[in-house]
Amino acid sequence: MAKKLKVLIAASEVVPFAKTGGLADVTGALSKELKKLGHDIRVIMPFYKETKRRKLAIKDTDETLLIEISDKIVQAKICTATIDKNITVYLIENDDYYGRDELYRTAEGDYPDNAERFIFFSKAVLELTKTVNFKPDIIHCNDWQTGLVPVLLKVNENENPFFANTSVVFTVHNLAYQGLFWHLDMPLTNLPWDVFTPEGIEFYGKINLMKAGMVYSDVINSVSKKYSKEIQTPEFGFGLEGVLAGRAADLYGIINGVDYDEWNPESDKFIKKKYSAKDLSGKEACRTDLFSKFKLKDKKNTPVIGMISRLVDQKGFDLIADKIKDIMKLNIFLVILGTGDEKYHNLFKKIQKEYPDKVGIKLGFDNSLAHKIEAGSNIFLMPSKYEPCGLNQLYSLKYGTIPVVRATGGLDDTIKNFKPKTGKGNGFKFSAYTSNAMLLKIKEAVKVYKSGKDWKQLVSNAMAEDYSWMQSAKEYVKLYNKAMKKKSLETLVTV
Ligand code: ADP
Repeated sequence: MAKKLKVLIAASEVVPFAKTGGLADVTGALSKELKKLGHDIRVIMPFYKETKRRKLAIKDTDETLLIEISDKIVQAKICTATIDKNITVYLIENDDYYGRDELYRTAEGDYPDNAERFIFFSKAVLELTKTVNFKPDIIHCNDWQTGLVPVLLKVNENENPFFANTSVVFTVHNLAYQGLFWHLDMPLTNLPWDVFTPEGIEFYGKINLMKAGMVYSDVINSVSKKYSKEIQTPEFGFGLEGVLAGRAADLYGIINGVDYDEWNPESDKFIKKKYSAKDLSGKEACRTDLFSKFKLKDKKNTPVIGMISRLVDQKGFDLIADKIKDIMKLNIFLVILGTGDEKYHNLFKKIQKEYPDKVGIKLGFDNSLAHKIEAGSNIFLMPSKYEPCGLNQLYSLKYGTIPVVRATGGLDDTIKNFKPKTGKGNGFKFSAYTSNAMLLKIKEAVKVYKSGKDWKQLVSNAMAEDYSWMQSAKEYVKLYNKAMKKKSLETLVTV
């Protein structure tokens, strides 16, 4: 058998401990699949108030970490929990940093000390491995919150034999959030100023923690092939396209999988009645349940368009705002679950008021309702401006809820236009980021829905798709091996 790898997955959110978006789904599910492949997987994340609220089985250990932050020594307790009873999760407890109502921000904006909170966490990642004596082959970092880990490793621990065989893989889940902080936060890192250069972690006079992760890790990847190409262009690179293009030889794309233990209408514990591709009758009961949740009166032959999303510009809500009158002229229902920017909260409150018989809106985060929307809707709308991978279109396929998406990132990689003539395809996608292009595709979907026979074929195609994690987890193992090989070659060159 191939070598069993020791992997530490470091992330700021992991299902079931804390979640604001897809990152948590990915880190939770990927660790389970890697474990199934026989590797020694551990996970590390901050211990948030949100995690405490969830009343999961969490143990205190007697171990503490003492971490240097500028000229202070800050303490954290190590707590542990498990995923699937056999993956150890280290929760870093420091209530000054993480005992807050939200993970990163309130409605007023980001927490002002996010630099310190996540520089601390990145330092804790390396300190923890030493304290619990876990020498990882791979530290798998995710997004800016862990971006400093490879810098600390390469600069401070370069000579440390403990990390002689440790490589870093850095996954970009969303390039729009880069962890940008003013230069006066540099002392918090306790790193020498010579890393604060354009070749290092500096970005237009600021510290950029996403860039830090990209520059210093052994290999980089993103969560779909298309997005890994897109981010090398000015349109999607958010200023980091040059850095990424410069590392193109080490930049990969691996599509996220779906945790079908969580998202499967045959076993979903949140939905009214379970169903499968063979017997879709339960989907009707789920629809009825959805209508009662939103206090809407159902109407025959009328498709329900669902959306579950962070309410931010990325997700294409400006297109919906632009064409809401035309969308509402169609014979449809619209149900939306989301939370985010105030302007979109106001927009949807207004739409709800104007079309109370056709629209259901819930502003908030509600996992159980998310499952009910996947099961009770017919069409799932994702008109994203950009989408690194996107998970809801993949969940929707499994629930026989047909995605209408914009052809970008992972949406483009996973959704194929349905052609009634050939009976092939699993959804609808439009290319130009315009409200007209979106409206045309919604109309096309509604038309096929009404056709009956073609829709049945389309639903059957969608439900037959398999985006289970196993395939992607195997790709990650290949990536880990590449990172290790790269590191050993570098060592040879230096020696
Ligand atoms: P992103 O990571 O950009 O938010 P993804 O499609 O990759 O987008 O993942 C979003 C995840 O978060 C999905 O699991 C989705 O169901 C969930 N989600 C988003 N908003 C909400 C919400 N308001 N309530 C419950 N779940 C949500």
